[in-house]
Amino acid sequence: MAFGLVRVFKAQTFKTLGKLTLAGAMGASLVAGDVGAQQKTPSPGSAKAIFGAVKLPTQGPAQPIGFYAKGCMTGAEALPADGPTWQAMRLSRNRRWGNPAMIALLEKFSQDAHDRIGWPGILVGDIAQPRGGPMFNGHASHQIGLDADVWLTPMPSHRMSYEERESLPFTTMLQKDKFLTVDPKVWSQQRAQLLMLAASYPQVERIFVNPAIKKKMCDTWTGDRTNLGKLRPEYGHDSHFHIRLKCPPGAKGCTPQAPVAAGDGCDKSLAWWFTKEPWAAPKPPKPGAPPPKPPREVMVSDLPKACSAVVDAPSVASAEAATYGGTSAASALTAAPAAAPVADTGGALPSVGPVPNDKPAVQ
Ligand SMILES: [Zn+2]
Repeated sequence: MAFGLVRVFKAQTFKTLGKLTLAGAMGASLVAGDVGAQQKTPSPGSAKAIFGAVKLPTQGPAQPIGFYAKGCMTGAEALPADGPTWQAMRLSRNRRWGNPAMIALLEKFSQDAHDRIGWPGILVGDIAQPRGGPMFNGHASHQIGLDADVWLTPMPSHRMSYEERESLPFTTMLQKDKFLTVDPKVWSQQRAQLLMLAASYPQVERIFVNPAIKKKMCDTWTGDRTNLGKLRPEYGHDSHFHIRLKCPPGAKGCTPQAPVAAGDGCDKSLAWWFTKEPWAAPKPPKPGAPPPKPPREVMVSDLPKACSAVVDAPSVASAEAATYGGTSAASALTAAPAAAPVADTGGALPSVGPVPNDKPAVQ
């Protein structure tokens, strides 16, 4: 059912957008985010408004509740804004929160990427809101603290300021004047190694990448392909990739996703993305037909029952108190200037871009 929701949002989002404006809108409004689930201001009382307004996680043990695209969480911890091999981006969004298993994985992955493949460090985009739940922009999933976005841009050598983290543009891996093609001038073997390293952890369930990136991996990866099937083609995801963890052991309230199919995924499920079908404009409504009803907003009561209690549960004392591994870098959040966040510039955007319409229910 979560898939249905995604489909509706996608259809709505892209219906009115031409190619150029689509590319612009994607760059301007998605912060290392997933295509889809874009909506205007959520209504007061909607799950997006309620979960989006919560500033701190609940006390108590960490539990993912529900499904990646329909749920919430308790006991979240924050990724410190800085670590030796990572920097968290877009701090104004307050989406550095996750299940401790997710935060631990990100820290380990960043260290391994540095030590094993010489990646300077990772830039971490959205993880989840303090209590998870649906977000008013950027993602359909990221609701239970087990999804995280990592940029395909390496961490710079200096510690970025708050403003830099707001405004650093995304760098697409795609060629601007070609359909679904990785730009060889931007792509690198090190990025391929980074993806395969992320896929190598047993707790990693899936990694979402742009179909062009998946194809590049299929065509060029000569190492062990055991984990290549974890790389799943998806709309967007051309400047960042999305790591999804399995439900942690013992997390009874967490709804698992069907495992990825056996094999490397370099098959007809990938070839489908290179057909017209996923990018076709939606069919215009029949003349005289009533306009389609907008999708009903998700309410807290639509989420698993336990999520109502999560909204009302007492908070931890402070963000610092719930920052993974201690308080060393949590101050970045509270030290944030009051100025409005800088709008994303989006960087260079493809002038000829695929226009997403719908997606298969395989993710
Ligand atoms: Zn994501």
